[in-house]
Formats: sequence, structure tokens, C-alpha cells
Amino acid sequence: MRYKTVLLFGAPGSGKGTQGKILEAIPGFYHSATGDIFRSLDLQSEMGRIFWQYSSRGELVPDEFTVKLWKNYINGMEMINQFHPESQLLVLDGIPRNKQQAELLDETIDVVKIIYLVCADMKKMIERLRRRALKENRFDDANDKVIQHRLEVYEHETKPVLDHYPAEKIARVDATMNQLAVLAEIIRVLAPIKSAIDHARDTQQRSGLAPQHVQPVGAS
Ligand code: ADP
Repeated sequence: MRYKTVLLFGAPGSGKGTQGKILEAIPGFYHSATGDIFRSLDLQSEMGRIFWQYSSRGELVPDEFTVKLWKNYINGMEMINQFHPESQLLVLDGIPRNKQQAELLDETIDVVKIIYLVCADMKKMIERLRRRALKENRFDDANDKVIQHRLEVYEHETKPVLDHYPAEKIARVDATMNQLAVLAEIIRVLAPIKSAIDHARDTQQRSGLAPQHVQPVGAS
């Protein structure tokens, strides 16, 4: 069964991570950010070195490696009971980041909605990234040249991912609003979707269970 998934989509600095972390606190949602998974790697390990090699230049880590790492990670989370796909909506942040990743993920995720955090004001995004560099000690945000390159990679490689999914699944949210206003908008979009998924699952479970509770005709 493919994971029911919401994609948090948008440029670096658009607030995907901030909103994802808030959503994670709501029962029924599970947030997974590839950037966080990569940053948790030991930089001395082979995988950590590959991550460092690409991200320090503002490049994407190679697709096969990234998708494999993420799939292993999410399987692990499911196995250790951290992620419950039957009751939780997966909120994906940072993946897929190009068309090939979107294709590689099709067999694993069922994308029910894409929250597209739109920011027309690039200066504002760059400001946010510079502030984050200081606060979170992010080496990939520390240098303006790397930030600029990451924004270009987003424009040329990541944005086309939107064409991979049906247009009606994309909800545009203005990322330049304050965090609470962005959250309110996301909740407005996701609440009915989550209710519909839960309702469908409950109905299916009830009908699946029903035969065991029904006394066969003639039994006493
Ligand atoms: P941001 O949201 O600011 O772009 P992330 O924390 O999502 O940053 O990612 C940090 C870095 O990790 C990226 O610049 C990239 O090098 C690497 N990375 C994260 N996700 C992916 C992915 N899906 N594919 C390739 N590289 C990735």
C-alpha cells in the first residue's frame, strides 16, 4: 500500500520545515524532511561525505542515493512504530526535488495534496536563509553564492516537479505571510482531506470486520 502523502513544496527558505514541524505536533500527521535526515548523518561516514560534497556547493545529492536513503529511513520508522501509515498522513518536505525523484517515488507515495508555498519576494527568502544560517549553523546557507545557486537549482530542477502531478492537487499558499497565517491556510486545505481519508479508512475497516461479527445463518 502506498503512503497517503502531502507534499510541502517551495523554494529554500519558503518555510516548509517550519510548517512541517508544526503539523507533526498534530495527531494523525507524520513529518519527514530529507534535509534533516541528511544532516543527521555522520559526516565521517561514506553517506555523510557524499551529502557534504553536494550540499556544501548548493547541489542536489544524486537521485538514486537520495531516494534509497529516504525509503530505507521511512521503512525503518514504520518498523520501529514511529510512523503509522494506516492512521497518519505523511507530510513530505524536501523530496521529490526533481522529476526523476518524483518518478522514483510514485510506487511508494500516493500524493493527495501539494502545499505550494509561493514566494514572489526573493529578497525575503534570502534574508530568511541568512538568518537561519546564523541560528542553525547551516553551512549551505552561510554563503551568498551557495544560496544563489540553491535558488537556481530550485527554479530549474525542482519547480518542474509540479508538472508531474495533476493541477487540481496543487494548493498555492502565500509564503510571505506570517507563520500563523500560513499555518491557518494549510490547515484549511488539509483538514477536509484528512477527515475524508480517516472516514474512508474507518468505513473500510468496519466493512472488513463485519463478517467476523455477523453470526452465520443457522448458527446458535
Ligand atoms: P532547503 O529547504 O533550505 O532547500 P533542505 O534542508 O531541504 O534545505 O536540504 C539541504 C540540502 O540537502 C540540499 O541543498 C541538498 O543538497 C540536500 N537535499 C535535501 N533533500 C534532497 C533531495 N530530495 N534530493 C537531493 N538533495 C537533497
